[in-house]
Amino acid sequence: MDRKISVVTGGSKGIGKSIAEQLIKDGYFVIVADVDEPATTKSSGFVSCDISNYDDVVSLFGLLRKKYGHIDVLVNNAGIIRDNMIWNMPKDDFDFVVDVNLKGTWMMCKEAAKIMREQKSGKIVNISSRAWLGNNRGQSNYTASKAGIVGLTRVLALELGKYGVNVNAVAPGLIDTPLTQGLTEEVMKGLINAQPTKKVGKPEDIANAVSFLISEKSNFITGQIIHVDGGRSIGSTIF
Ligand code: NAP
Repeated sequence: MDRKISVVTGGSKGIGKSIAEQLIKDGYFVIVADVDEPATTKSSGFVSCDISNYDDVVSLFGLLRKKYGHIDVLVNNAGIIRDNMIWNMPKDDFDFVVDVNLKGTWMMCKEAAKIMREQKSGKIVNISSRAWLGNNRGQSNYTASKAGIVGLTRVLALELGKYGVNVNAVAPGLIDTPLTQGLTEEVMKGLINAQPTKKVGKPEDIANAVSFLISEKSNFITGQIIHVDGGRSIGSTIF
């Protein structure tokens, strides 16, 4: 197949769905890898894949290698939250969040790196969170996983740079998705009030940054963390 092949994890809804739609507009054949099948598929393919399960990840890349022989773009977007203060947080909730967000991203990168290193080209974009900076109480598990993604991104940029593979991360702020629609009105109000721009971002805001990072325009950018967060990573505007 001549078309550029991309994989978006967690692409069935929220930010991932918007990234998948943008990549289709950018001319990519998009394979959504998710535990949930997307409601609309357009020209995309779908592979059922739990990124925290190494067998699933290995079989996804085996299939991609067999069917297409190459992979141009990997967007590691799938992620979950299980918030709680550390003294109330079940150990299983720490394991679950780190297994999906960090270990899952690492396993996807590992299998993609084998193919991209061989073909001497590729772009990987990992979705972290501005929470990686460590300013959200109740998110010790999530913050550890998202800070881990930042470190992972920087090391992979070093390891893969000479093989023509760029690795960057996008750190979203508050974005309107099914994940955040579960937050209470009070929490949402507090989060919006803390944002310098006083508004909630759209999934498309993240998709636009990803679109730039996989384009020719960003060929000299690697190992970077782009915050798309209405300025929240600069600081809170509560005071
Ligand atoms: P979302 O609406 O919950 O969508 C995430 C998608 O990933 C869902 O389809 C989900 O399926 C899927 N998924 C979950 N676990 C998976 C697994 N193990 N393997 C494969 N797919 C899996 O989340 P979102 O808000 O779009 O967030 C996307 C990414 O952005 C996440 O990494 C999140 O941490 C990050 N982020 C989001 C925000 C925000 O404000 N929304 C802010 C900062 C960072 P199920 O629904 O069945 O679990």
